[in-house]
Amino acid sequence: MIGQIVIVGAGQGGFQAAASLRQEGYDGRIILIGEEPEAPYQRPPLSKAYMKTGDAGQLALRPAAFYDTNAIELRKGTRVDAIDRRAQRIQIGDEDLAYDHLILATGTRNMRPPIAGLENTRDLRTLADAAALRDALARAERIGVIGGGFIGLEYAAVARAAGHHVTVAEAGARLMGRAVSSQMSDRFAQKHGEMGTDIRLASPVAAVTPDGMTLADGTQISADFVLLAAGVVPNVELALDAGLDVDNGIVVGNTLLTSDPSISVLGDCACFPDPATGRLVRLESVQAATDHARLIAKRLVTGDQSLIGPSLGSGRTNPIGNCRLRGLPKRPMQPKLCLMAPCCA
Ligand SMILES: Cc1cc2nc3c(=O)[nH]c(=O)nc-3n(C[C@H](O)[C@H](O)[C@H](O)COP(=O)(O)OP(=O)(O)OC[C@H]3O[C@@H](n4cnc5c(N)ncnc54)[C@H](O)[C@@H]3O)c2cc1C
Repeated sequence: MIGQIVIVGAGQGGFQAAASLRQEGYDGRIILIGEEPEAPYQRPPLSKAYMKTGDAGQLALRPAAFYDTNAIELRKGTRVDAIDRRAQRIQIGDEDLAYDHLILATGTRNMRPPIAGLENTRDLRTLADAAALRDALARAERIGVIGGGFIGLEYAAVARAAGHHVTVAEAGARLMGRAVSSQMSDRFAQKHGEMGTDIRLASPVAAVTPDGMTLADGTQISADFVLLAAGVVPNVELALDAGLDVDNGIVVGNTLLTSDPSISVLGDCACFPDPATGRLVRLESVQAATDHARLIAKRLVTGDQSLIGPSLGSGRTNPIGNCRLRGLPKRPMQPKLCLMAPCCA
């Protein structure tokens, strides 16, 4: 059995990989390293229940004792700086740490489009972001949102339900254009409109100021603050610097192994062949991250060479209703289906 497994990224998928390794019977050393100061927590409630209640106690994926009980060495607040593949070591500041197998679970970060004054916007990716947004919401009357995707709309729905004036500026011609059919986009636009949210389609934002945002056609939208929710980019730099293939994510084969047999990749940062079409895809969903983690753990512990499955049935409970994503399109974005293809090649 493999001697020491290091997991970089202590989010949804990194946590699941550590837990699944133990469930599969792995008895070697597991080191789970995460940059954020918290123990692994759920991200989906950040834009939903947590935004309403502020109850961070509900977010932890497991209580603190879980890590001791399962001999998972959790290193919080720790950023991995580099991978030395030849020596099979990772670099953390001045320290370096050996691995026999490395799992990259580095997730994504907010995309920062070239908009003037972007430093005036707020993010919603981490618990720290969400806590700051809740505070700002309590003091705000008017809110601007850049991006009519899942996260922007979820936040808009919570803010609107709490009585705020909310304007969503979407650059595309319809809401959630990367992920759902045009019929679904229309339905969500109607629902948000009925709630009183001001939805501006085909309205790229040209600039953000402390007083609001300016659309490309010159329209001024006043806002006490502006949320940036224009999509994400995968955290691939560690892999890229280590000479691994990167293409809108870290490229893996159909068992989630990179071209280096000692490195696997999972979750939001993995770019893998869609089992139905062979096309390289990258998914941003809890279901995909946890499915990937279980597959990798099983392969490492038992030698099982099962191929990646379709990771279907990814559900998103939106504050204005439920949206169940049934799978990937055969071709990029067919009209009649409710599908998720967040960033297919
Ligand atoms: C507000 C919000 C709402 C969401 N709602 C839903 C939903 O309803 N349904 C759904 O399916 N999905 C939802 N998602 C997406 C879902 O949370 C992600 O798909 C999932 O978390 C992916 O897991 P992951 O392990 O790949 O990445 P993450 O959970 O993002 O974890 C990656 C971790 O790696 C760490 N990291 C990165 N680089 C380094 C480094 N060099 N060293 C150390 N640590 C590093 C990061 O700090 C981060 O903690 C939502 C996301 C957000 C932000």
